[in-house]
Amino acid sequence: MPTILDGKKLSQTILDELSAEVSALKSQGIQPGLAVILVGDDPASKVYVGSKQKTCEKIGILSKSSILPAATSQAELLSVVQQYNDDPQIHGILCQLPLPHHLDESEVINAIAPQKDVDCFHPDNVGRVLIGAPRFLPCTPHGVVQLIKRTGIETTGKHAVIVGRSDIVGKPLAAMMLQKDSGSNMGCNSTVTICHSATRNLEEVCAQADILVAAIGKPEFIKAHMVKEGAVVIDVGINRIDADNSKGYRLVGDVAYDEVAPKSSAITPVPGGVGPMTIAMLMYNTVKSAKLAHA
Ligand code: NDP
Repeated sequence: MPTILDGKKLSQTILDELSAEVSALKSQGIQPGLAVILVGDDPASKVYVGSKQKTCEKIGILSKSSILPAATSQAELLSVVQQYNDDPQIHGILCQLPLPHHLDESEVINAIAPQKDVDCFHPDNVGRVLIGAPRFLPCTPHGVVQLIKRTGIETTGKHAVIVGRSDIVGKPLAAMMLQKDSGSNMGCNSTVTICHSATRNLEEVCAQADILVAAIGKPEFIKAHMVKEGAVVIDVGINRIDADNSKGYRLVGDVAYDEVAPKSSAITPVPGGVGPMTIAMLMYNTVKSAKLAHA
């Protein structure tokens, strides 16, 4: 049977560690603070924002939020960002994406002070990750790497195949897994292949992976024949599919778990795998930012 990479449990361990750090910081008169900006009323975004705020409260991080109407103008949104850039109580600013179509996401991301960009989306922080000199690590890829490393899975020299090349998951994860393992919490020293919708022979490439990461956004896309016997399988996907229950849907990943799990040596469940790690790493970045601001 495979090792189940339990992100719910590991994220709780990380949050307990952070809670102790926040207490120590508070005793020095420093309280980490996170500002969350939400524009519009997308139900999934509201849920994400709510759980981020709740997690802040649980571990003692100050949480401020701006819930703005869908019709907010670019100038209004930029002025809210600027207000948090100037707020000494705030160490991390997160603008929940996607934004309504009339707003320019990259201008908003670029307006967040890089020192407060705890999502690690600002070009300055993205570039730092690429050259192995990070200020912050992007939350979902960092969650993936922590799950792998803290479980004691060997990554050096392993062939990691990442399916998906988005700016928030696939690309930064590839940069991190490629990096030398120099005792930092990002480098995996792996040989990395990145796949996308134009990749030829995708099934064969996936089947060569020692570590296979699916970040595609297609329910149960990775089937058993695409996975090598004994591979480590990390499922980043979160997809809603219709179900005969009170909610009318259930969550599945990008991996066909029931058929892939028996072939793998370790696998993340969905839900309860990468998802909870993402929020824990956001808290990690906020605490780190507060420490950097007072160093
Ligand atoms: P994007 O839609 O931005 O990227 C999806 C990637 O998958 C693209 O690079 C795309 O290729 C590739 N892809 C799509 N179809 C295929 C195919 N048939 N064959 C090969 N590659 C394909 O998604 P995200 O990276 O933002 O998210 C991916 C998944 O992870 C989603 O389910 C999302 O909900 C989930 N997610 C989960 C998080 C968590 O906390 N657990 C956080 C963020 C995302 P191309 O570039 O060619 O279009």
